[in-house]
Amino acid sequence: MKNHTQFKGEKVLILGLAKSGFAAAKLLHSSGAIVTVNDSSQEQGNREAQELRSVGIEVITGGHPEGILDRGFHLIVKNPGIPYSNVVVAEGIRRGIPIWTEIEITSRISEAPIIAITGSNGKTTTTTLLYHMLNIAGKNPIIAGNIGTVSCSIAENATAEEIIVLEASSFQLMGTEKFQPKIAIWTNLYEAHLDYHGSADAYAMAKAAITANQTSSDYFIYNDDQPLLQKFAASSSATKIPFSIKGRKEVGISADEDYIYWNGEPYVKRSIIKLPGQHNLENIVAATAAAILNDCDKKTIENVLSSFTGVRHRMQFVKELKGRTFYNDSKATNTLATKSALAAFSAPTILIAGGLDRGLSFDELKPYMKNVKAVVTVGETANKIADFARSCGVLNIISASNVQDAVEKSFPVSEVGDIILLSPACASWDQYPNFEIRGDQFIDAVMKLS
Ligand code: ADP
Repeated sequence: MKNHTQFKGEKVLILGLAKSGFAAAKLLHSSGAIVTVNDSSQEQGNREAQELRSVGIEVITGGHPEGILDRGFHLIVKNPGIPYSNVVVAEGIRRGIPIWTEIEITSRISEAPIIAITGSNGKTTTTTLLYHMLNIAGKNPIIAGNIGTVSCSIAENATAEEIIVLEASSFQLMGTEKFQPKIAIWTNLYEAHLDYHGSADAYAMAKAAITANQTSSDYFIYNDDQPLLQKFAASSSATKIPFSIKGRKEVGISADEDYIYWNGEPYVKRSIIKLPGQHNLENIVAATAAAILNDCDKKTIENVLSSFTGVRHRMQFVKELKGRTFYNDSKATNTLATKSALAAFSAPTILIAGGLDRGLSFDELKPYMKNVKAVVTVGETANKIADFARSCGVLNIISASNVQDAVEKSFPVSEVGDIILLSPACASWDQYPNFEIRGDQFIDAVMKLS
C-alpha cells in the first residue's frame, strides 16, 4: 500500500452500502479516515452494516439525514449506480466536495500498476482475455472492477509485482480525479446510458477519464477505426497504441483476414483464433497489445487465443452436438449485441431471441438475417420478433415458452453444420431474474440434449 497518510483524519461520506461501499469504507477506515456510510434503503439485518459498525465505522441507513453535509465532509465516495441527481450528491457538488467512486481510491492506494479497460461493448471479454494472457505468462494479474471483485477490496494488499486488470464502466470513471492507469484500453464507443449521463457527449467524456491523467510513460490502446476515439486520443498525453480491425496495418496493432499485425508485421495467424465474431477482434487486438506491452511471450498469447472460447453468456461456445454448434450469447440484451453475434457466423443459423419488451423495433437486425434459417421466439417480444422474422423472409418461425423449450424445439429443425444461437436482443427480466440465469438455462438444456 502506497501513500499511507493521504486519507488520515479525512472525513469521508460513503454513499451506498453495496459491495463497493463496504470495501471502500473498510479500506478508508484502515487508512486512517473518519468514515460515515449512508444508505437510503432499510437495513433489515444487513451483515455488512454490522461488520462496519464493529470496527467503529458509523453506518446510517433508511434515508439521508437532513443536513448530513453540514458535518464538514472532505470527500464523498458514491456507489457508481447512484445518479448525480441524488440529493446528497447534488448538494455535495454545490458545496465543491469531491465526488469519487471506489476506483479513484484504488489508484491512489494500490502499489500494483493498473490496466483499465473501458468501452461500450467488450469490456468483460477484453478484461478476461487479457487476464488469461497475463496469468499464463506468470505476471500475477488480479482481476477487479465492474467484473466482480470490487477493486478497493484488493487494493491494500496488491503488490508492485502484481497487476490489477480493472474493468471500468463510465459510471465508475466519472467519479475519478487523478486516476492514472499504466495502460488504458478503450474498445469502442456507442451511444448508451443516456438516462444516467444526460447526453452522448457527457457519456463519452466520462469514458475519456480513462486516459485524462496518463503521461508519456503510460499507454493508451484505443479503437482507431472510430473517428471519435481518434479525437479523444489526440488530446491524450499517453504513448498511443491505436488499433484497427479493418486491416490498416500502419497503426500499432491491426487485423485483416489473415493475420494480427504488430507494428505492421504479421504477429499471429487469424486461423488460430477460437473466439468467433468480427466484433471480438477488437477485444482480441486490444488484449494482445496490452499483453505484448507487459512482455508476455508470443507462445502464451497464441495459446490463449487458440483456447479462449468466450466469457460465459457472451458468445460463449457451449457444445458441438451431432454437427450442430451451440452458442450462448444471453448477455446480448439489445439489438447492437445481437447484430455482432449474427455477423459472426456464415453458417446457417437458428436464432433464439426475445425477452423484455422495451417498445423498441428489431428492424436494424434486418441486414444480418441472411443466414438465419429459423427463429425460435421467447418472452414478451415473441410476437414482435416473429413479425420481424417474417418480414425478413424467414420461413421457419417457432414459438417457445422459455429458453429451455426453445433449445428442445430448435434441435429437431436443425441440420449438420448449423449454428444454434441464443442471442435474445432483449433483456431477460420478463421471465428471468437476470441474463446469467437465462444463459444457464440455455447451457443446461443443451447439456440435457446430449
Ligand atoms: P461489456 O462488458 O462491455 O458489456 P461484454 O464483453 O460483456 O461487454 O459483451 C457484451 C455483449 O456485447 C455480448 O453480447 C458480446 O457478444 C457483445 N460484444 C462484445 N465485444 C464487442 C465489441 N467489441 N463490439 C460489439 N459488440 C461486442
